[in-house]
Amino acid sequence: MTTETIQITLPDGSTRDVPKGTTPAQIAEQIGPRLLKAAFVARVDDELVDLAKPLEQNSKLAILTSKDPDSLQVFRHSAAHLLAAAVMELYPNVKLGIGPPTETGFFYEFVREEPFTQQDLEKIEAKMHELAEKDIPNERKWLPKPEALELYRSTNQEFKCELVEEKATEPMVSFYTTGKFIDFCRGPHIPSTGRIKAFKLMNVAGAYWKGQEGNPQMQRIYGAAFLEQKDLDEYLHKLEEAKRRDHRKLGAELDLFSIQDEAGPGLVFWHPKGGIVRREMEDWQRAELTKRGYDLVFTPHIMLLDLWKTSGHAGFYSANMFGPVEVEKADYQLKPMNCPGHVLIYKSHLRSYRELPVRLAELGNVYRYERSGVLHGLLRVRGFTQDDAHIFCMPEQIEKEVEDCIRFAWEALRVFGFDRYEVELSGGDRSRPEDYAGSPEEWDKAEGALRSTLERMNVPYKFIPGEAAFYGPKIDVKLVDAIGRPWQLTTVQFDFNLPKRFKLEYVGEDGSRHQPLMVHRALFGSIERFFGVLIEHYAGAFPAWLAPVQVSVLPVSGKFSEYAEKVTKQLKHAGFRVHYDDRNEKLQAKIRDAQLQKIPYMLIIGGKEAESATVSVRHRAKGDLGPRPTEEFSADLRREIDTKAVV
Ligand SMILES: [Zn+2]
Ligand SMILES: [Zn+2]
Repeated sequence: MTTETIQITLPDGSTRDVPKGTTPAQIAEQIGPRLLKAAFVARVDDELVDLAKPLEQNSKLAILTSKDPDSLQVFRHSAAHLLAAAVMELYPNVKLGIGPPTETGFFYEFVREEPFTQQDLEKIEAKMHELAEKDIPNERKWLPKPEALELYRSTNQEFKCELVEEKATEPMVSFYTTGKFIDFCRGPHIPSTGRIKAFKLMNVAGAYWKGQEGNPQMQRIYGAAFLEQKDLDEYLHKLEEAKRRDHRKLGAELDLFSIQDEAGPGLVFWHPKGGIVRREMEDWQRAELTKRGYDLVFTPHIMLLDLWKTSGHAGFYSANMFGPVEVEKADYQLKPMNCPGHVLIYKSHLRSYRELPVRLAELGNVYRYERSGVLHGLLRVRGFTQDDAHIFCMPEQIEKEVEDCIRFAWEALRVFGFDRYEVELSGGDRSRPEDYAGSPEEWDKAEGALRSTLERMNVPYKFIPGEAAFYGPKIDVKLVDAIGRPWQLTTVQFDFNLPKRFKLEYVGEDGSRHQPLMVHRALFGSIERFFGVLIEHYAGAFPAWLAPVQVSVLPVSGKFSEYAEKVTKQLKHAGFRVHYDDRNEKLQAKIRDAQLQKIPYMLIIGGKEAESATVSVRHRAKGDLGPRPTEEFSADLRREIDTKAVV
């Protein structure tokens, strides 16, 4: 008997001759039993396959362990099957939908009369652990298509029937079994259930079959799954942290802002304490704008709809705009953007090259229609304040302008206490020039300018072709917060559209008319959203310069009110935001309340302090700092605030 041999090339370039039909698992075992134990799946000529799949021809083979990100996806898909297997054991009459991996785990969707409850999830999770411990193999089976359909028809799995009808293009249909559970699936899967240990069922969410409104309602059970318990623990901890830091919860507890049903969804009320933080954010920004050569402008909130027709927003942006308002037979439009207003200021007189660059900045309120379902605290709203600016310049000035915008963004990051960021450059798709404003040459130049600026500044960035809006390429800066979440912050965006539509010009050195380049740039993006990010980043414990109340004066009892009032007055005089807590409460209660309000400093005042003209200083995070002369405390706090220190 002759066996045909095939040649297998491993990732290090070495080759092995093996009999045809050898499996990746067998090769892994030959390389070493430890590799086989660590293996999840194999990659054969760029395709992921089961470790048990016989190899039929010469091919490249990689055995994937936990080091390969593809392993995790396959593992999570197998966890989805384990979930479905457990659900089928406990609730044999459910109908199955689909069950793919997700970014943090998996889901499987079911149709069942009753909703799955928290208790159900606990039961299912326990059953999953039980099935996992049995180390049941995930085996691939093949059935002729008519038999596959009959199998699902006879068990009332109409959604699966639909999938087989649509997706099975070959005569033989691929299935995977996990014990009694059988699923129409192309795989691949990890060999058995034994390694699925680090998972947790998270929640149930409604979804339409195939995501289409009007289709039957499915119940999706979502789970988190990781290869290692420590990764799952870390993920769950991060979720807890995010919950603790939720700006909607803290916004109410710290009395910073509200969104009120009586006024409408997505519209923000800044309470006095939130207002203080906002004023500090804006004061900083206005001072920086002036320093950096911007001119501050103000433009109307409502302007003729015709203006928005000229700008094009009435066409390409209409889905995001509030409807027009009619006054004296003319239609007016609530502004969704500040750009056309700034364009009109630029156009108010003929500009000379000597005036360029013109940098117009505005803390501009804009209103955008967002579906009520997507609104989220301060992060997605219908009315917000953009810290917006438009730069009109000559081509030879553009790189310097872009660089200045990025330096401005860095300064904002530093001042507000962020030390990590990510940069993305979004370019156009050259294969669809008809979809874009501006010629391919203009796009090349603009992208080139953005790229060479980033490279000259040594900024690492990710290039995303095809991501740009139709009117020009852009740079996005995302900050990374205290628990590692990225947030969109600064945008520097070219615009080839508006200068043409509004026929913008300047008189060049040569005496003839030219079209200026136009750049939109926002620093925080939206003041509301950035405030939400700040609340979550600091978990409400703002640094002293931003804190709505910087110092709380706490007399031990009414006996010391005279001295406590004197200290309060002295500190208020020095310009600090001071709260004098003269309630008839125990000191412990006053300290607890100040801690809950995340006030940076508490000054405790009793007999000793009154006699020696000192204060006993307590910091919300560092605890007791001992007695200090009032003057000295005042000078230190002044320095902390003036340097915008993050303590
Ligand atoms: Zn599957
Ligand atoms: Zn703009």
